[in-house]
Amino acid sequence: MQIYHANIIYTPDSRHFEVVPHGYVVVSDGKVEGVYPTLPPNLSDHPVTDYGDRLLIPAMNDMHVHAPQYRNQGIAMDLELLPWLQNYTFPEELKFADLAYAEEMYRRFVRTLWRYGTMRVVAFASVHLDSTRLLMQLLDKAGMGGRVGKVNMNRNCPEGLQESVEDAIKACDVLVEEFERPDARVRPIVTPRFIPSCTPELLKACGEMARRYNLPVQSHLSENHGEIALVKELEPESKHYADAYDRYGLFGQTPTVMAHCVWSDGDELELMKQRGVMVAHCPTSNLNIASGIAPIRRFLEAGIPVGLGSDVSGGHDFSIFRMMVYALQMSKMRYEQDNSCAFLSLSEAFWMATKSAGSFFGKVGSFEPGYDFDALVIDDSDLLIDPGYSLLERLERFVYIGDDRQIAARYCQGRLIPEPI
Ligand SMILES: [Zn+2]
Repeated sequence: MQIYHANIIYTPDSRHFEVVPHGYVVVSDGKVEGVYPTLPPNLSDHPVTDYGDRLLIPAMNDMHVHAPQYRNQGIAMDLELLPWLQNYTFPEELKFADLAYAEEMYRRFVRTLWRYGTMRVVAFASVHLDSTRLLMQLLDKAGMGGRVGKVNMNRNCPEGLQESVEDAIKACDVLVEEFERPDARVRPIVTPRFIPSCTPELLKACGEMARRYNLPVQSHLSENHGEIALVKELEPESKHYADAYDRYGLFGQTPTVMAHCVWSDGDELELMKQRGVMVAHCPTSNLNIASGIAPIRRFLEAGIPVGLGSDVSGGHDFSIFRMMVYALQMSKMRYEQDNSCAFLSLSEAFWMATKSAGSFFGKVGSFEPGYDFDALVIDDSDLLIDPGYSLLERLERFVYIGDDRQIAARYCQGRLIPEPI
């Protein structure tokens, strides 16, 4: 058993922060037993890890990121989605056939997630089996968790990124055999890149893989007008973009996370709700490649789960704290256009990044009893220019103006996670 003492802040629901000043979190077997304002008498002899006046908050979850686009972070912001993929993304992903190159980039990628306090991730790798396996091993070795997808794609991309349906199925079998265990931290996820990259045969095979192994699914949905028009052309029988996934068993038949959903409304939004499909909201990406402002308030009102994603390299920033800020700012721009859509609050943004996103991995993202102890210790002493800040003001300041320098310790499933090498 471990006991941690600090200023504890988390969001049991989207509407409010639970704040326990100088409280105690009791952790047993990597899971939270309880949060207490004073140490329970039966534990008074137990050693305590004392973080003093620091903040203790749940760790971050990045629900959408492309690991092989690490090198392209912060460049190539001059195109919309489809030409951006052809000109920048696919040429970089071709390099991941080379395991030595993949290792160099993926080590940096895992270290960067760690630096920004992201302990769980839903990531796209590339189409290559060996480098995908390597990424999963590196994350696991680091003690961090998540779902990693070997990408499936066989059309509208360079030949070197196209796989046969048979190879796609074989690779899935291999990764399931090597990684898919109920207690494993890093596990596979079925990853059709998006409808334009996959023939109907490959989409069908992806749906069958998900069903056969009860694997979750990740992909992209309704990000950009050009993309939506292309999907309509490629899948003329589908009622809408989401229906194109649904017809292949890739839309909530197993747990599903869809990135963007900027233009999802009407019947598509209704289907997302019915199927419990999670939205990975990626505000910086939506800004950078001129996609639009996603209707996050509508999703929350409909009870559709929402998490936040960095979407590097459409997004340029790995920090999920910064993603909260962008999500808040974009919701205000949407509100300015449509007053019936109230803008997001800090607690809603924090909850999306922690408890809401974390539900994709099990009981993750809160300090309620039974949750995995995924936590960050925030030493914001350099931001405390005035002793008068409340604990919530300290958190808000850290979210808005802090960075990795204030993250003093990181925990995943109760284990202190050192910097990955
Ligand atoms: Zn993406």
